[in-house]
Amino acid sequence: MILPPALVRAKSSTVPLHPVRCSLGRTKRKKQLPLDTRMVLFPLVRSLRASGLSFAQLQRNLFEKTQIRLSKATISGWVHGAHDPLGRVNKFDAEPSPELAYTIGVVLGDGNLNVHEYHNEILLSVTDGDFAKEFSRCLSIVLNKSRPYRVRWSENRKRWIVQGASILLHKFLSRQCRELRPWIRHCRKCETAFLRAFYDSEGSVSGGIQVSNTSKDVLFFVRHLLRELRIETGKLYVQKIAGTILKDPRTGRLYARKKNCYALRVRSKSVLDFTNIVGFTIERKQLKLLEIAGIRVQTRSPGRARRDLNPRPSALL
Ligand SMILES: [Zn+2]
Repeated sequence: MILPPALVRAKSSTVPLHPVRCSLGRTKRKKQLPLDTRMVLFPLVRSLRASGLSFAQLQRNLFEKTQIRLSKATISGWVHGAHDPLGRVNKFDAEPSPELAYTIGVVLGDGNLNVHEYHNEILLSVTDGDFAKEFSRCLSIVLNKSRPYRVRWSENRKRWIVQGASILLHKFLSRQCRELRPWIRHCRKCETAFLRAFYDSEGSVSGGIQVSNTSKDVLFFVRHLLRELRIETGKLYVQKIAGTILKDPRTGRLYARKKNCYALRVRSKSVLDFTNIVGFTIERKQLKLLEIAGIRVQTRSPGRARRDLNPRPSALL
């Protein structure tokens, strides 16, 4: 049997994967096997048990195959579902959903994937509170949280920050855009959620609707999705050339741009369709969009105003 590197590193250990009592009576947590290893061992344990082996036979068989001796208590816990091999990891099932598509769109735009010691973070730091709130809502649904992640204001950065952590989601989102396409293309709702997230991140409304990014691949894909939704765009063009100077608005420090920045514009005749089908979560951008789409916004009451910011097709025609 060929073992993955993480499994090889964990070899030759007899590892209790559950808390044990020390002599003082306090619960002491023993070091766990790496997550990758647990994820390989778990299905193996289940299939060996399904083949009719006793716990002792299973333990021996597993040791012969992997050089890892799991305790019988752990084997029993896994087989009977009393212990979860994923431990305290934030669970993530890669089920397609508009919330997952929105999360992907943000990470390909303004979001960041960071690794801090043992934390695999998914982070968004932005000036628009409504954008941060929507990301928090989607991220908490994707990670099966009962409440949305906290949206906190950083006085230092002058930005709203949302921060979640999950090794599994981090790994999933670290893939290239090309590999994430099946989740984005799942259905029309997922496609438009992805586009809205990407435009919330990278889009701007100034005379027209444009979106800019350093990845040509991502922008070609965005253009393809828009075309399928019958939203016409112009050609991709270089907006800023690598080497030009970039000023950090907060610190005032100057940087040389490392990569070309490309942009894409929605054609004037498709502005109304874009407003109707994609739109922005960010109210500031959505109001500008309605303005250039020639749609009057009613502001009689906050509830009414909010509804009118995302008009339905019948309201637009
Ligand atoms: Zn879908």
